[in-house]
Amino acid sequence: MKSIDTIAAELAAYDPQALNASTVSHFLARLVEPVTQQEEVGIFQALGRVLALDVVSPISVPPHDNSAMDGYAFDGAQLAAAGPLTLRVVGTALAGKAWSGQVQRGECIKIMTGAVMPAGLDTVVPQELVKLSADTASITLAPGTVQPGDNRRRLGEDLLQGQAALQKGELLTPAALGLMASLGIENLQVWRRLRVAYFSTGDEILSLGEAPREGAVYDSNRYTVFGLLTRLGCEVIDLGVVRDEPALLEAAFVHAASVSDAIITSGGVSVGEADYTKAMMKKLGDVAFWKIAMRPGRPMAVGRILRDKSASSPYVTSASSYKNNTDDPTPAASEAAILFGLPGNPVAVMVTFLAFVRPALLRMMGRTASEPPLLKARSSEAIRKKPGRTEYQRGVVSLDVDGTLRVKTTGNQGSGVLSSMVRANGLIVLPHSQGDVAVGDEVRVMMFDGVI
Ligand code: AMP
Ligand code: MG
Repeated sequence: MKSIDTIAAELAAYDPQALNASTVSHFLARLVEPVTQQEEVGIFQALGRVLALDVVSPISVPPHDNSAMDGYAFDGAQLAAAGPLTLRVVGTALAGKAWSGQVQRGECIKIMTGAVMPAGLDTVVPQELVKLSADTASITLAPGTVQPGDNRRRLGEDLLQGQAALQKGELLTPAALGLMASLGIENLQVWRRLRVAYFSTGDEILSLGEAPREGAVYDSNRYTVFGLLTRLGCEVIDLGVVRDEPALLEAAFVHAASVSDAIITSGGVSVGEADYTKAMMKKLGDVAFWKIAMRPGRPMAVGRILRDKSASSPYVTSASSYKNNTDDPTPAASEAAILFGLPGNPVAVMVTFLAFVRPALLRMMGRTASEPPLLKARSSEAIRKKPGRTEYQRGVVSLDVDGTLRVKTTGNQGSGVLSSMVRANGLIVLPHSQGDVAVGDEVRVMMFDGVI
């Protein structure tokens, strides 16, 4: 792993007072490393987890050619002749109950969706496209009704035996669970959950349940961070609110590092407060304080807090529950917890989380690269934007009657206006060198749905 100092030194080649946001996320990706312990979970526990091994299909799906429609199955070679085709109905194939007889030229069988196609038959004509004789003993289809091979699902057309079904590092989505079940797989090998501890800082921050007092505000960041982490599939450890007091902060960091893979704090990283935090961080690990050319969310602290070796490791007691079949000798192999010191303003917390923390945590969780897709939408309004910083504006995307995606901002972009984050359905990402946006210009939007 690169030391934070090396990374900070590399970053110093850029303007340290105005780091480009994409440069920062690039460096963060190099600071963090994926977890190395795996565990086996049942399919119902696997949703949202990250696959630790490739899954090769043990069977073919579907396991045999079968009908895609309710209709009549026959040998499509007989369609060659011009004029209507009349076929005698000699039997019935149901899903789960195959027809075992022989079907000759001039014959067909009634077949239901999912039923096995008898040998030699390759075509199904839907029942609504044929004329059934009065005695129901034969059908007639007009020329051109179907082509040979129509309405037949081929053996292995979803997956062939031996083919890669899912790959290590993939997120287990509802579709992936279904796919695994279709292969008869009940248990999956996944990376262990990432443990993330978080706390808020500030003398003015009230926890829920505390009586309001002059100059104080209720903590919102802990709840937002709880939601963001939970949605990501992390194990969360809530360490409350820590007062702006060096000794308390130090104790909180030491404890957090002893129970987690990553620590997220909010507040206390802006100029002024940073000085004593900086001194403490030097003592506890290696942390860099970055000023990022972005809005909102300029100041951020990133680094590693060393685990107190004398303190008991968070993983030792639960080690037996991990199936540790990697080359990692002990569950608590990593010596430090990664720290993300986010700004205090509630919107800045969410934006810096989405821009930097989320991609880094995904990597730690063992996910293979997964950039959230950015939609292109036309701006319904002019947006003022200074080149030289990345701006994230809260946006509301909607579909126009003409089918165009349009986006407007939520108005006041103050970094404390959390209500606008609720109203927005995405963040308009205005890149570093971008200038003012005119009405009708195309902009990129990171949609919340699927990301948070
Ligand atoms: P700071 O970065 O600590 O100077 O905080 C910047 C602003 O964010 C101040 O107005 C704080 O009151 C506010 N703030 C900090 N932490 C929280 C929090 N956990 N919940 C709500 N507001 C906060
Ligand atoms: Mg503060």
